[in-house]
Amino acid sequence: MIKVAINGFGTIGKRVADAVAAQPDMEVIGVSKTSVSAEAYIAKERGYPLYIADLSKKSAFEKAGLEVAGDVEAMLKAADIVVDATPGGVGEKNRPIYEKLGKKAIFQGGEEHEVAGFSFNAHANYKEALGKQFARVVSCNTTGLVRLIHALDQAFGVERVRAVMVRRAADPDDVKRGPVDAIVLNPATIPSHHGPDVNTVLPQIKIVTLAMIVPTTFMHMHSIQMDLKKETTREEVLKVFENHSRIGLVRKATGIKSNAQLREYTQDLGRPRTDLWENGVFEESVSVLNGKEFYCFQAIHQEADVVPENIDCIRALMGTVKDPEESIRMTNEALGLVAIG
Ligand code: NAD
Repeated sequence: MIKVAINGFGTIGKRVADAVAAQPDMEVIGVSKTSVSAEAYIAKERGYPLYIADLSKKSAFEKAGLEVAGDVEAMLKAADIVVDATPGGVGEKNRPIYEKLGKKAIFQGGEEHEVAGFSFNAHANYKEALGKQFARVVSCNTTGLVRLIHALDQAFGVERVRAVMVRRAADPDDVKRGPVDAIVLNPATIPSHHGPDVNTVLPQIKIVTLAMIVPTTFMHMHSIQMDLKKETTREEVLKVFENHSRIGLVRKATGIKSNAQLREYTQDLGRPRTDLWENGVFEESVSVLNGKEFYCFQAIHQEADVVPENIDCIRALMGTVKDPEESIRMTNEALGLVAIG
């Protein structure tokens, strides 16, 4: 059993912890919090040993009925690998302690590529990650883009990508962020950072991205255009998506045309926390014009799509499963991820 520590038990950390606990070959040896919160009670409820960043706060946790197993360093010492899911920028500050203790670590998309020196996506570069000490699982948007671009690049070759990201304003629990009634260019300059971030995993892809933020909390919506190298048809592209274990097709017959309806659907499917782990490509939007121009809309659940990638990244860094397809299959099976559509 791979002993996994989760440093930062928030939106991503709590999902990764539950996903680790669901796997047959790994276990959660501890999670960390900075202060008493609803999530700390969830850690207790799940039976995850709770560690804290600052031991001077131990009495506050104990007064709240939360047992503290020790500080973050003690948690790291007990682990084979740590998933750092602290807020963007904190992972960089944590890196020296992982180095000092000689621990393997996975950072998240809020960190720069340089923090790990290697950016990960299971379908695209699993084998390159084998045995490394550090890796960064790219952000939710980048994960969604990389899955789609890599799949079409393998099948037909990708000449160039243009994509517009319509981003959710905040996560559902984030009551302090906006906008409430605006469409904000993010950034107003072009390109946005997403294209260069795709290049940290797929350096050969020519890509330009634009981004804006809208007042919604559930999912980003991508509008994507690619020039393909080989001529193809809409049917052949749909077959590629149907055969991909982390690309789901939102079928025309469902009548789903929005993030809100897709959320209702994942809820009705009984997905934990309504998580959509796969890309939600809208079947109706999939188009191939003039033989080589591909278009589609896809929904990306920001809180969820990186979760299975973190699980595969754990196996890749530990080197316990050498074949990407085998790890992806194990992860999907344990989560119950049967791509929608
Ligand atoms: P979050 O704020 O929901 O959770 C972060 C957790 O880390 C909190 O529980 C906080 O208490 C804890 N924390 C803060 N400082 C800490 C420290 N020094 N030591 C230990 N724990 C500490 O953040 P999040 O949304 O889960 O984001 C985590 C990372 O994942 C970021 O890099 C982010 O960019 C990335 N990410 C987030 C999303 C998303 O949509 N939320 C999607 C993909 C990637």
